[in-house]
Amino acid sequence: MIIFDIDGVLADTNNREKFLIDKNNSEVNWGMFFQDAINDLPLPAGILVAKAIINYLPQADILFLTAREETVRATTINWLSNQLQLNPNCIDLKMRAKGNYIESVKFKEEIGMQIGFKNIDLVFEDNPLIVDMWRSHNVVCYQTSSGLYID
Ligand SMILES: [Mg+2]
Repeated sequence: MIIFDIDGVLADTNNREKFLIDKNNSEVNWGMFFQDAINDLPLPAGILVAKAIINYLPQADILFLTAREETVRATTINWLSNQLQLNPNCIDLKMRAKGNYIESVKFKEEIGMQIGFKNIDLVFEDNPLIVDMWRSHNVVCYQTSSGLYID
């Protein structure tokens, strides 16, 4: 299995990071942060690699694994389908349940345990905490950027 994180790997979250930090009271508005994902620009390098894998390894078992909530599943499927020219019905996407505030690193570790770390060939991820988690389980993980935003 090959796993792609979405935010910071395939999708550029710059346009909605304003929702993470309110300059007046430092409140984080995760709801708006996720809802605005429909307007994300693609990250060209991530899209290039994902398309290459999809086109050259059509049998590859690809999972999109994101800490976005299930509330934005339709938006996320549409976005991935458009950016990667994938049939929406063929997109395997795991998201956090609504109201599940487990840390993203713990959420992804749980999914990794369910899949079995030995069954994961490669992960693309930007968050350094999550990169470290995958590597601690001997999973090869390519980090796409510094991943330095609140998570
Ligand atoms: Mg990310």
